[in-house]
Amino acid sequence: MRIVLLGAPGAGKGTVAKLLTEFDGSVQISTGDILRNAVKAGNELGKKAKGYMERGELVPDDLIMDIMEARMKDPDCQKGFLLDGFPRTIPQAEALKKLFEKIGMKLDAAINLDVPTDVILDRLTTRRTCSNSDCQEIYNVKSKPPKADGTCFKCGSPAVQRADETEEAIKQRLTTYNEKTSPLIDFYKKEGLLVIVKSLDSKEIANEIIKAVKK
Ligand code: ADP
Ligand code: ZN
Repeated sequence: MRIVLLGAPGAGKGTVAKLLTEFDGSVQISTGDILRNAVKAGNELGKKAKGYMERGELVPDDLIMDIMEARMKDPDCQKGFLLDGFPRTIPQAEALKKLFEKIGMKLDAAINLDVPTDVILDRLTTRRTCSNSDCQEIYNVKSKPPKADGTCFKCGSPAVQRADETEEAIKQRLTTYNEKTSPLIDFYKKEGLLVIVKSLDSKEIANEIIKAVKK
């Protein structure tokens, strides 16, 4: 399947995307993961993106489009992809639409994970992420804690709070979402691609998405 996952930070895009990859072999493409790996590697892209990310601001559109155009041409994307964290602005959505037209592809749906703000805030402050860039397993100190010593069950690396998960940066990310990303809901509604999912349970969400895409 080829879908866009929309929703505020903490809405569960990454978790749902991981479940969906197991369903039909579509690959998860997370611009956040790609950027964090670049920052860790200290490469050209990472150097350009680091400041924006730490402040909870968006990385410039042209940089993101370069990454995505290259990534979507990779052979593993043939079976489909789950776009997690992209597009994030109207210009990115417009550019994606043009790119699809150019390569003769079509989106199946844009899924909006509609989660109440109090749930979002609670999730973001209690989230921990495995610091091993090849793993990046997501934990939650309340609902899915890492091992007692704070390390990852999968790989043993420390599960930590992301640099952009301080209270200040979280506030900025939510403001950025409201200003720049929430208009995409209307954009995809006009395109006739919008599917709204209100469940808070990731398995249930994944099933609803599969049903919607099959139609
Ligand atoms: P979130 O939990 O906020 O959805 P992500 O892991 O998707 O986090 O993204 C982390 C940061 O990476 C964002 O705050 C932003 O700085 C940058 N980023 C990720 N995707 C994009 C994008 N499509 N456009 C611009 N910046 C992006
Ligand atoms: Zn791990």
